[in-house]
Amino acid sequence: MDFSWSQEQQDFYDTVVEFSKQELNNDLIRRDLESEFDRAAWNKCAELGILGLQVPEEYGGQGADVPTTYLAMEGLGYGCRDNGLLFSIGAHMWSAISPIERFGTEAQKQKYLPGMVDGSLIGVQGMTEPGSGSDAFGQMATTATKTDDGWVLRGNKTFISNAPVADVFVVFALTDKAKGWAGISTFIVDRDTPGVEIGANFKKMGLRTSTMSELTFDDALLPEDAILAKPGMGMMVFTHSMDWERGCILAHAVGTMQRQLETAVDYAKTREQYGQPIGKYQSISHMIVDMKIRLESARLLMYQLAWMKEHGKDTKLQSAMVNVTIAEAWVQTSLDSIQIHGGYGYMTESEVERDLRDALAGRIYSGTSQIQKNMVARFLGL
Ligand SMILES: Cc1cc2nc3c(=O)[nH]c(=O)nc-3n(C[C@H](O)[C@H](O)[C@H](O)COP(=O)(O)OP(=O)(O)OC[C@H]3O[C@@H](n4cnc5c(N)ncnc54)[C@H](O)[C@@H]3O)c2cc1C
Repeated sequence: MDFSWSQEQQDFYDTVVEFSKQELNNDLIRRDLESEFDRAAWNKCAELGILGLQVPEEYGGQGADVPTTYLAMEGLGYGCRDNGLLFSIGAHMWSAISPIERFGTEAQKQKYLPGMVDGSLIGVQGMTEPGSGSDAFGQMATTATKTDDGWVLRGNKTFISNAPVADVFVVFALTDKAKGWAGISTFIVDRDTPGVEIGANFKKMGLRTSTMSELTFDDALLPEDAILAKPGMGMMVFTHSMDWERGCILAHAVGTMQRQLETAVDYAKTREQYGQPIGKYQSISHMIVDMKIRLESARLLMYQLAWMKEHGKDTKLQSAMVNVTIAEAWVQTSLDSIQIHGGYGYMTESEVERDLRDALAGRIYSGTSQIQKNMVARFLGL
């Protein structure tokens, strides 16, 4: 395994970091307080090619390899402090673009991918329901019924990221209840479809700059060609996009943890108490050492996943391990950052506490940490 980056990859990383620092942090404290999504920043990310990193050039994308994609996400996390924006981008790329690119017909790809790459269309996945979260397939209640004109979609989805601003929803619904998980299908639903109702933006603990709401389908009539893949292939579509989402959606947090580490080192060197820098106290320096070890372990596991994906390996186990490792590392590093900064770390103005609020969601979305560990346990035969 070769871990060195080419000059081209290194230059791209530097460009992404510089771009993120300059363009993506505007007015962040206020936007976080007011739960405001930054559409202008979204468009700038699209212009740089971020949204289409993995999309083939024929649909307007970059056609980048997997390690370069991961490196770009890491660079975004290092330069951009707006974790909500980066989460929204991840949800768009991995839960909406990825399944359309993999399972879409040529017409579906032509219809959606160029707009999803150039920033004009925002996408997301609608899976979770009020009664079904971790057991998404077992307790699904949303149905899609075949008619002569197409499909009638009925049900409720909740916790749907991007929904208040999204144009395209990749929605899972039961088309044949008797078949259980084999009777679930996937649909591409346009925002302006009659019968599609989008709720108000949820107030959240963190990731506030990423919008989220309920999604209601009140006998929404979808055209025949709204189905993604064949009827009953929902599990296959979901498994594909979740493998990407689990393994990629927290890639930016590796860059964030690098920034948190550097900020903590600077602070520990300059903040003096009892006549010397606080970094001279072992309880502080060891906390910082643990931040470093967590960061490098998470980064290595993530690069290994990138390499495996690039080489066509089965990555279900690795994706689950990467997800839980980064999610838990980011929470602990955010806690440590606040502790090292003392009272200043607890204040909104310091922009240290926001990372903890944002990081905690990483233990829940794309499958909770407990569900990721259940998956790893299954791979171990437990
Ligand atoms: C910020 C954020 C963004 C999200 N974005 C989206 C989105 O865009 N689209 C979408 O469809 N969904 C989205 N979700 C929903 C997310 O996927 C669910 O919240 C998640 O799958 C957990 O489901 P739940 O909240 O119903 O919790 P539950 O499944 O009810 O779990 C509650 C608790 O029980 C534990 N638990 C459940 N089953 C087991 C088990 N078998 N073993 C051990 N522990 C278990 C869980 O780990 C958790 O601690 C988002 C959630 C968040 C927080």
